[in-house]
Amino acid sequence: MNGFDALYAKAKDRIQALSELPSFKEESIEQMLEGRGIERRDFIKWAAGITAMLALPSQFTPLFAEAAKMADRIPLVWLHMAECTGCSESFIRSDAPTVDSLIFDYISLEYHETLMAASGWQAEENLNQALKKYAGRYILLVEGGVPTAMNGQYLTMGPQGRTGLSVVTEAAKDAAAIFSIGTCAAFGGIQAAAPNPTGAKGVDKVVSQSVINVPGCPPSASNIVGTLMHFLLFGTLPALDRYHRPKWAYGNRIHDLCERRGHFDAGEFVESFGDDGAKDGWCLYKQGCKGPYTFNNCSTERFNQHVNWPIGAGHGCMGCSEPDFWDTMGPLEKPIDSHLVMGLNSTVDKIGTTLLTATLVGIGAHAVASIFMNKHDEKGGVSHG
Ligand code: SF4
Ligand code: SF4
Repeated sequence: MNGFDALYAKAKDRIQALSELPSFKEESIEQMLEGRGIERRDFIKWAAGITAMLALPSQFTPLFAEAAKMADRIPLVWLHMAECTGCSESFIRSDAPTVDSLIFDYISLEYHETLMAASGWQAEENLNQALKKYAGRYILLVEGGVPTAMNGQYLTMGPQGRTGLSVVTEAAKDAAAIFSIGTCAAFGGIQAAAPNPTGAKGVDKVVSQSVINVPGCPPSASNIVGTLMHFLLFGTLPALDRYHRPKWAYGNRIHDLCERRGHFDAGEFVESFGDDGAKDGWCLYKQGCKGPYTFNNCSTERFNQHVNWPIGAGHGCMGCSEPDFWDTMGPLEKPIDSHLVMGLNSTVDKIGTTLLTATLVGIGAHAVASIFMNKHDEKGGVSHG
């Protein structure tokens, strides 16, 4: 039995186990999708897309379709900590429904402060009930950093004024899995930027359970749904990198799969926004693109139903899926300070005047970027093993 056979057998067992759980919805997912104008073949195409995104062979496609049909059997609790709700907004505010956003409608969302009708005492009661009733079964999704200074008093919520810190640690206790959605929940986000007066931290720093980080400001719907679907189908955590991000989503550098990469290698850079290079889609490194230091799948998955992404639209990557990016990646529209990058910026300037060959430039940039990574690694900053 090879690795995929064992995984396939595991997924089949998981689907069998899910099918024995009570369903929370009256209509099937196929009926719901049909009612929203999405045909079965689009649903299968979506399942094939999830399979490819998770780097699994195509025989897993029918299994993902099966797992999606049972998405209503796993209760979900979504907590908001210190954040802007941008992660929820980006996910639910698409102008046309996609299977990704509709899966979210189909799951059993037991608690989500922005979406539910209840408020005050009733909302708190709903949360308590959900945590009790589904103990050991619910997935906990957290959006936002957790203030920890002054015993968490910088964030209080609900009619009893409980701290976010106490709510999240209690909810984590009986969760089957915990996902930190967005950079704030994963790494603290802008709340944790220096000097971080509220002591904001990522969820994995305040709970003792394992946490999957799905960073991004915001993360793409694909990365959120892919993480959910992986857990739904296998019931276990995916392979994670050193920052607890799923490797299938955060295993590649933006720069390595960027559509402007050929221009970087050829030494063709946008010198100012709106110039001829910008119109011709040249590399945005000199306009502050942090793609060489950022790990995410934006260049392949894109946003807004896979239509486009920031670099495609003409702005550099800001490094939003990296820890402490507010402190380490600024200024956002300038290359990182040359003392940090150890010469990458001067290499870029030389490229502009001497037109080094593509190979030399590529090798040079990679070597310098590696030095940057190692330097930050020593400081416990942005780095990847
Ligand atoms: S520096 Fe940015 S725009 Fe240029 S190739 Fe790399 S990721 Fe793309
Ligand atoms: S391109 Fe960069 S800044 Fe933009 S969403 Fe992706 S990782 Fe974040």
